[in-house]
Amino acid sequence: MTTSFPAGTILGYPRIGRRRELKRAVERHWAGVLDEAGLETEAAALRRATRARLLDLGLGRDDSSIPETFSYYDQVLDAATAVGALPARFDALRGEDGAVPLAAYFAAARGDGHRQPLEMTKWFDTNYHYLVPEIAPETRFALSHDRFARQVAEAAADGVTVRPVVVGPVTLLALAKPADGAPAGFSPLDRLEDLLPVYASLLQSLREAGASWVQLDEPALVSESLGIDVDRLAAAAERAYAVLGAAADRPAILVAAPYGPLTADAWSVLAAAPVEALAIDLHRAGEAPASHPGLAGKTIVGGVVDGRNVWRGDLTAAADRLERLRAVGAAAVAVGTSTSLQHVPHDVADEPALDPRLAAWLAFADQKVSQVATLARGLVAGRAAIADELAAADAALADRRSAPGVADGDVRARLEGLDAAASDRAPFARRSAAQTALGLPTLPTTTIGSFPQTADIRRARAAHTRGELSAAEYEEFLRAEIDRVIDLQEDLGLDVLVHGEAERNDMVQYFAEHLDGFAVTQNGWVQSYGSRATRPSILWGDVSRPAPMTVGWSTYAQSRSEKYVKGMLTGPVTILAWSFVRDDQPLAATADQVALALRDEIADLEAAGIRIIQVDEPALRELLPLRRADQPAYLDWSVRSFRLATAGAADATQIHTHLCYSEFGVVIDAIAALDADVTSIEAARSRGEVINDIAASGFSHGVGPGVYDIHSPRVPSVDEIEELLQRAADELPLHQVWVNPDCGLKTRGYEETVAALQNLVTATARVRERVGA
Ligand code: GLN
Ligand code: ZN
Repeated sequence: MTTSFPAGTILGYPRIGRRRELKRAVERHWAGVLDEAGLETEAAALRRATRARLLDLGLGRDDSSIPETFSYYDQVLDAATAVGALPARFDALRGEDGAVPLAAYFAAARGDGHRQPLEMTKWFDTNYHYLVPEIAPETRFALSHDRFARQVAEAAADGVTVRPVVVGPVTLLALAKPADGAPAGFSPLDRLEDLLPVYASLLQSLREAGASWVQLDEPALVSESLGIDVDRLAAAAERAYAVLGAAADRPAILVAAPYGPLTADAWSVLAAAPVEALAIDLHRAGEAPASHPGLAGKTIVGGVVDGRNVWRGDLTAAADRLERLRAVGAAAVAVGTSTSLQHVPHDVADEPALDPRLAAWLAFADQKVSQVATLARGLVAGRAAIADELAAADAALADRRSAPGVADGDVRARLEGLDAAASDRAPFARRSAAQTALGLPTLPTTTIGSFPQTADIRRARAAHTRGELSAAEYEEFLRAEIDRVIDLQEDLGLDVLVHGEAERNDMVQYFAEHLDGFAVTQNGWVQSYGSRATRPSILWGDVSRPAPMTVGWSTYAQSRSEKYVKGMLTGPVTILAWSFVRDDQPLAATADQVALALRDEIADLEAAGIRIIQVDEPALRELLPLRRADQPAYLDWSVRSFRLATAGAADATQIHTHLCYSEFGVVIDAIAALDADVTSIEAARSRGEVINDIAASGFSHGVGPGVYDIHSPRVPSVDEIEELLQRAADELPLHQVWVNPDCGLKTRGYEETVAALQNLVTATARVRERVGA
């Protein structure tokens, strides 16, 4: 294979569109107002616009530097369906030849009337959710759609040679779970031999469509957190790339290992593998890996431009790192992003409302593509050729260091003055005795916080933002919304109520808008899952709370009911995880600043008579470092910051937290260490697996394993909820168990929400009766 690799590339680009065009198109398709052909046309237009933009930004037309990373929903589902790996419950939706049509693809992603969707979980340590393939010993692998090849051909017809990007075989299997009914001890990775010939055919189809290069993403090889031994993963990679390297009629192969440094074994395996190029994450890893003779014929792509954050960063340091990468002994060094740019918004130029001084410190996807193009020119033509760009980046960095607000003396002094006891509450036994005064029933029912964010709510918020609805009118609107949500919960018979969070566009952005040290964007959307996107705030300076943030809404809601209404806050780790965080001080220091602001908010809520306060930390697991050696320090600071936020609460104040992801087992000790009185946790999609973990861990505080999967429009039946709940009641001491959905209801519609909550209350009544409560 003689095709040379370009001097610069990106591992992937946002695919939802600068104005979320893809979201609108797929949602119209799901709603039945845009047919499949119409959807395909809009998607093709989006891909064409992306290629044109990347050409403008300096990537090449025919050197394969433009990756094709479009997806209708999720890149893992794209790969799984390409090789036919769908669970048997979707068989009826497949073509006669086993082909996976778009309708089956979307059904797997979202579920339909009677079919559960695939489980969804976080992609490595990011806030992106992928769909978990289910693989059985008998799953038949065969090429089942040709979207990857069609996209290559489509670009070729436009005169652009794109580099298709596919999740690699090792990562696909490593991220999969055994299908229901698979024998104990079966692991999807056992099926590698059967899968590889199908990947070989896929590569051949890409070659036939005109691809010179293909990128196979293997982030599994940087992780120690997948529950698979790293030497098993490395051995799988060795075998996989021996087979694919030897495949006939294939494009040149770039194996990409984003999200962290490769494990030592995986690095030597890939360095020696019969592939043509490797992309490594030099941003996270810091320094180049050891040299290896196997690299002599390969290109190494140094991921020195951070794909995960929005800072313009230190371009000179990036150029230095690339220079040092020459020492590993590869035939050529190229520059790349550390990961796909799917984790950052499109363009700083789309943010005219940002303070220009701050804007000059930033780089979104398009600016990062330009940085890659600059560094590539430096590699080819020498450092002098890019001296101006390096100087401009240096100047922006210096300006940022000295700007007001980046360091706030009062905030720093308060943190330094804290003593160790500031993070400790009284022992749980004493607190739970004090909290019996709340008089809650056995199996108390509650929700996670948000109620559906209806079109009315979004319209009112937009009108308020545009100045068409006055502050007083908007407040009145939101109060009416609270009234409705409180009445509804009373009618349903829920025990602990919420105010519904209608005032929050987003659970992090709302706080970012009320705290000093943050900036918010107008168009900075980043895909979270499927058609859902979030707009992360930018945490650029020291954090403080100029005024109470939630007290007005919570006290109003409490005034409308005799039942308790939970105060609702977002925890420090989640605020960090779902924002773009400053990179100029340790995360731990930033987390403590946020924690102090929340601590003051909790004190104000208590003073206003709120007795139950929930501090959500859905991102606790997400930020867990992929490498084991880094985990204890992370768990230490993340737990401490949560405790710093909550430990000022009185014994009688019940502190709740909420976590959503399914692998509870991994961080169970940390969850116990949070010392919340009650923890609600996502469990429905994994059908209650977490209940085992909780029971096994001896967790002694209150716990609400989710019994209603809110990620799908499907309404769970009473029987289904009852079964999950009964399982929790059988395996855990009854007094510990709470009943709640998996997560907030903001993405759902009212019809399905009311039906599901009705079933939840009915199922609870049945279980209460059975256990004699
Ligand atoms: N309280 C938040 C809500 O209900 C929690 C959301 C989350 O966990 N992501 O919307
Ligand atoms: Zn949640």
